[in-house]
Amino acid sequence: MTDSDGGVDVDGLTVRFGDVAALADVSLSTDDGEFFTLVGPSGCGKTTLLRTVAGLETPTAGRVRIDGRDATDEPPEQRGVGVVFQNYALFPHMTARENVAYGLQFHDLPEPDGERVAELLDLVDLAGVADREPDQLSGGQQQRIALARALAPKPDVLLLDEPLSALDASLRKRLRVQIRSIQRDLDITTIYVTHDQAEALAISDRLAVVRDGRIEQVGTPEQVYREPGTRFVAEFVGDNNVFDGVVTEAGDRIAVDGTATLPLPGEADATAGASATVSVRPEAISVHDGDGQHPDGNGSTVGGREAGTVTRSAAVETVEYLGDAYRVHCRWNDQPVTVKTDSTSPPEGTVSLGFHPDAVHVLSNGARATAT
Ligand code: ATP
Repeated sequence: MTDSDGGVDVDGLTVRFGDVAALADVSLSTDDGEFFTLVGPSGCGKTTLLRTVAGLETPTAGRVRIDGRDATDEPPEQRGVGVVFQNYALFPHMTARENVAYGLQFHDLPEPDGERVAELLDLVDLAGVADREPDQLSGGQQQRIALARALAPKPDVLLLDEPLSALDASLRKRLRVQIRSIQRDLDITTIYVTHDQAEALAISDRLAVVRDGRIEQVGTPEQVYREPGTRFVAEFVGDNNVFDGVVTEAGDRIAVDGTATLPLPGEADATAGASATVSVRPEAISVHDGDGQHPDGNGSTVGGREAGTVTRSAAVETVEYLGDAYRVHCRWNDQPVTVKTDSTSPPEGTVSLGFHPDAVHVLSNGARATAT
């Protein structure tokens, strides 16, 4: 681990609540000015990690460094962090302006600086509603006021705990663009918590996938999406199809379900007979009408399709319309397979699924992981 000036480093962090280890020996580092997201299912420890950085939880073991200094024993107000929670937490009988000014009060200013408050209201584009109380503001406006209040004392680090989760889908999307743009303008190191993998991919410079109090993988959105390190990440981020099998004699395929095979990527260093787990993204599988299975049962290159593509016959079970694509849930032998296709009409009946070797990502054993 390298300590980063301006960023946040946690080292060997463990937080226990009685018998529950909410965090177990977690280490990670954010860069200065980075937008870093913690994503994972409910109860995995994201909020505990954020609260520990904020000084609202005391670690059982490990250290927290902020801006290069050891902040583990500092009280929250000395840490130079601004926090926004899911539920806004605005004061109901204060106007928007007063709520933002309140953010300045604990920072040795005799009088909240009116100019600074106006600047912050402008930043979140809410100067026009400065004199309204929270119940006269929409959820999105309240959350922007909460953001302005957190930014008021010019913190070194911004901590955002599911700030959009109470808002409707379209507002969430608009507001996350706005949060990102404000974060970039201020160049402020930000740690963002969400359970929504699409949001994590959309908003982050890098993200950490958290599971059961541990970090499963850290990377850029592209790395985590295209090169999941584990089955959990493959399934949680991007709804990948995951197949277990055994590497064939020739070493260029894995046998799934006994004899039926899928191709391995060319660079895979596969050991014949070893067990292997691979993932394939839904949009990386092509889908064609009819049964394109090669008569030898192994699947083969089919005329007109990209060389190396192995085709498999599958039965369509359900289809979801996504607007710009269909998500098709199929069954190939006993294996469920999810495919995303931008075809103009929904596939039905028996279809042929095309697996190109480069679309197959090796997760474990039998072969070393390769990029897809
Ligand atoms: P969510 O997305 O649902 O908010 P999370 O990933 O943020 O979940 P945490 O809130 O950090 O998860 O909780 C991690 C674990 O620690 C959970 O098992 C939770 O029940 C437990 N936990 C959190 N806070 C406390 C507490 N104050 N006392 C006891 N257990 C707690």
